[in-house]
Amino acid sequence: MSITAEALAPCSKCGEKTRIKIYRSINTSEDPGLKEKIRNGSLFVWECPHCHQANLARYECLYHDPVSRIMVWLVPSGDFPESQMEAISNHTRAMGGYRLRLVSDVGALMEKILIFDAGLDDMAVEMCKYVTIMEMLSKGNHASDSISGTSFHFHRIEEKDGMKYMVFIYPSSGRMMSLDVGFNVYEDSLGIIGRNPDIIPDGPFMKIDQEWISSVIR
Ligand SMILES: [Zn+2]
Repeated sequence: MSITAEALAPCSKCGEKTRIKIYRSINTSEDPGLKEKIRNGSLFVWECPHCHQANLARYECLYHDPVSRIMVWLVPSGDFPESQMEAISNHTRAMGGYRLRLVSDVGALMEKILIFDAGLDDMAVEMCKYVTIMEMLSKGNHASDSISGTSFHFHRIEEKDGMKYMVFIYPSSGRMMSLDVGFNVYEDSLGIIGRNPDIIPDGPFMKIDQEWISSVIR
């Protein structure tokens, strides 16, 4: 089940503290509505009653999709409780076939769920992002200045004229821009990972992000 609690959160603009509902864990089978709220990011946004500033809540949350067998653990502090992690991984190992991931921000949690819901492999998606950013940099594309690994996110899969694309989004000069990447790049990445299983990190809860991909591609 989903476990909730309350916390006092300070407003980023006026500093006033407001009591907000926080989710310690989310089970998407029992609360399917919460999944959409994560996919669109609204779950973690709260409005200050004093100045109406929209704030992003920052707390630890374990996302669990029992149907797709996915757990994504959001720990903003990056300080993962080892004993709890071990207990969860033992439990999911017994059930088999689970994908366990660690993320440190809400944007990364949203992206993982979009990737897994699209039926994609997040390691291959990270490789696509890396390759795409490198290609833009090598072509001296001006947009590449504003693209860093952390702000370049998978958005969805699209089909145009019978061709499949991955759509990535990134902020540039205060606007969200999108970039299409051919699905063949994803398929190539998947092949590379399949031929190089040693690049897959150890440990049940994996941190699959730009830092990981930069460390394995040289
Ligand atoms: Zn406020």
